Amino acid sequence: MSTKVGFLGLGHMGGPMAANLVRAGHEVLAFDPIPAAQEQARADGATVVETAVAAAAEADVVITMLPNGRIVLDVYREVLDAAKPGTLFVDCSTIDVADAKQAAKLAVAAGHRALDAPVSGGVAGAAAGTLTFMVGGAAEDFAAALPLLEVMGGKVVHCGDAGVGQAAKICNNMMLGISMVGLSEAIVLGEKLGLTHEKFFDVVSTASGQCWSLTSYCPVPGPVPASPANHDYRPGFATALMTKDLGLAANALRDNGVDGRIGLLAAEIYERFNQTDAGRDFSAIVTDIRRRSGEGQ
Ligand code: NAD
Repeated sequence: MSTKVGFLGLGHMGGPMAANLVRAGHEVLAFDPIPAAQEQARADGATVVETAVAAAAEADVVITMLPNGRIVLDVYREVLDAAKPGTLFVDCSTIDVADAKQAAKLAVAAGHRALDAPVSGGVAGAAAGTLTFMVGGAAEDFAAALPLLEVMGGKVVHCGDAGVGQAAKICNNMMLGISMVGLSEAIVLGEKLGLTHEKFFDVVSTASGQCWSLTSYCPVPGPVPASPANHDYRPGFATALMTKDLGLAANALRDNGVDGRIGLLAAEIYERFNQTDAGRDFSAIVTDIRRRSGEGQ
């Protein structure tokens, strides 16, 4: 069944996600203030409209894929009154848990339905329609959104109430940031102690230190040929995005009184690295640790 979808935010992620909805036969009313994004959406078969309000007013489902929580809340405030009663709002942006809850509250107060549905899988996953969606909100709203999410994603998990999708996203990425820093420190220590990268990988990949950062995304060239380390740390997952997600995790740790010292430290480490290396893959943190440990790269 074809659904009328308002799609707000047609950037690196939103552009290809909207294109997949069009390909699956849905009518997409698309808005983004950037002309290049509008042109691409038009070429992909979406109906490009002049304002966010114009997209939301006609739609049954409004999907947002925006840079941050402030913009999501601004856009919600702008469009909620124009949308038809009972419109389903699905925010796929990565934002603070508190902002996600606030967005859902605003939508429900205006007579609508709302889900937070952040994703992992990056630009490649958005293009291939293989994203993982982590969804927070009511079960019946999840069921209503599922056919659309399955067009854009390979795995869709209903995590709990409003905000809990964002919680899953930042918990996962906090673990990823921590594990990449921990692994990189161990690699640099191994280098100092005469352990080659190959032998490090041979041992640790099947020992208790084994983790995804090592076996799928090894931060030094060689052991995992597809990892960004083999391609001059081209992202991949840019340091700027990891820094953002760790900042959201740090906010949630503080807001909820969690004694998350390692999470806060990882946020601080990436914050510093981001000042010089925002565009490099986040696994390049190993080069920063090596440099700070007194050797060239
Ligand atoms: P992006 O900057 O490429 O795209 C955001 C788009 O939103 C831009 O085109 C911008 O013009 C548009 N926009 C800004 N204000 C708007 C408004 N008021 N109305 C409509 N559009 C507006 O960012 P992205 O990489 O596509 O990321 C989008 C979200 O997805 C972010 O929250 C990010 O954290 C998250 N995310 C990104 C990745 C990734 O690999 N890029 C992976 C997972 C999650």
